[in-house]
Amino acid sequence: MSFEAVIGLEVHAQLKTQTKIFCGCSTAFGNPPNTNVCPVCLGMPGVLPVLNKKVVAYAVKTALATHCTLSLISRFARKNYFYPDLPKGYQISQYEEPLAQNGFVEIDVDGHRKRIGITRIHMEEDAGKLTHDPDRGLSRVDFNRTGVPLIEIVSEPDIRSPKEAGAYLKQLRAILCYLDVCDGNMEEGSFRCDANISVRAKGAEVFGTRTELKNLNSFKHVERALALEIERQAEILAEGGSVLQETRLYDPDQDQTRPMRGKEEAHDYRYFPDPDLLPLHLDEAWVTELKKDLPELPRQRRTRLIQAYGLPDYDARILTAERELADYFEDCAKAFPHPKTVSNWIMGPLLGLLNARGVAIQESPVSRENLVALLGLIEEGVISQRIAKTVFEQMAETGRSPKEIVEEQGLVQVSDVKALETAVARVLDRFPEEVKAYHAGKVQLMGFFVGQVMKETKGKANPERVNEILKKHLDG
Ligand code: ADP
Ligand code: MG
Ligand code: ZN
Repeated sequence: MSFEAVIGLEVHAQLKTQTKIFCGCSTAFGNPPNTNVCPVCLGMPGVLPVLNKKVVAYAVKTALATHCTLSLISRFARKNYFYPDLPKGYQISQYEEPLAQNGFVEIDVDGHRKRIGITRIHMEEDAGKLTHDPDRGLSRVDFNRTGVPLIEIVSEPDIRSPKEAGAYLKQLRAILCYLDVCDGNMEEGSFRCDANISVRAKGAEVFGTRTELKNLNSFKHVERALALEIERQAEILAEGGSVLQETRLYDPDQDQTRPMRGKEEAHDYRYFPDPDLLPLHLDEAWVTELKKDLPELPRQRRTRLIQAYGLPDYDARILTAERELADYFEDCAKAFPHPKTVSNWIMGPLLGLLNARGVAIQESPVSRENLVALLGLIEEGVISQRIAKTVFEQMAETGRSPKEIVEEQGLVQVSDVKALETAVARVLDRFPEEVKAYHAGKVQLMGFFVGQVMKETKGKANPERVNEILKKHLDG
């Protein structure tokens, strides 16, 4: 029997505001515990929340960029539960009347374009952070994060594979980053995802029973946890069993998912409208203004890179995955007249370097100026392609300019005819047998001679010149 996965994702994105959603406390990360707090975010009696307008603006921008329908009136609700990281005993969220509904994000997987529906986007506050100290048998709570603004973005169960889930998350994250409303950092938790997944017989109409996967803090973990869960659920169904609706935790060390809590333990949150906050009325003129100010989004930029620089779609897709990477490309492409060459160097050596070091383009040891300078040296024939690769490696190591490296190490390409003549003569002297064979018709030995001359000149010879001189000597 063949099975099909059905996946829906719930993403929590932390908004990049200076202050919290209902008070003026700082949202800065990494301050000493309980220093970014006030009576409002600590939930003291008698205090009143005041909505941060920037939070609404960021949420509205996200809704517009994901083609959602905005509700001109939405409402905040209290989600009631007890946990030590939640000082008020409830989280302010939106429930029955969210800010936005019915949008979509477009993804590309294996050359196919597909729309993943967005069910809703709503605003809410984050909870605090617990740290456990098992050695001393105690836990500590830090309320700095309490009241930090989040948006929750819930997808329709339109996703059919771990790969599609990864593509959706990457596209959504790119949109948030281009909008500059979220820093998109999954490891630090500013972009988090819970995955709902069920499996059904291929062709079946109704969905199967789903589980919810938690602790997915990288794209890799999301895809891996989903693959494991598909396997587990399919196995149960194949044996005629039924999947239990439950929340499961992904454990990357054990490479498995395991139950966290079942449906019986599911919370009843007793949602009700927050009486301290008025319904939120969006001003249509303000929304129009926000819409007008939307920046170029990943897809639009991809199309523009194809049109403006003549790049293949493949290149444009990779370069626009991160706004900063696309900026890097465009800055270089403006300074060097062959965009495809720029793209090749970024997608090949540069991304290879960044991936190996695990750093973002913003921290690239090779600056735009230095990359452009390197391409200039190749273009002018000062260094060969081969030497350029070594120079690039040294640029990556030291952050120095290619000019400095080339001059200091005497890597300048030898185009000087006299020097090359000498090298060619030496090689032909050394290989009389091969020369004979060449004259007897084994013309493919030309490559061998070129290689020997390159060796003789430590890779610095201009290969075109070498070819010309060899031809002159051998074919006379
Ligand atoms: P809850 O209230 O438990 O969070 P929701 O109805 O809000 O449930 O759905 C949460 C997520 O689960 C959504 O992203 C939705 O697309 C997804 N989902 C719902 N049903 C299924 C299913 N049978 N299989 C996989 N995903 C599902
Ligand atoms: Mg939900
Ligand atoms: Zn506060």
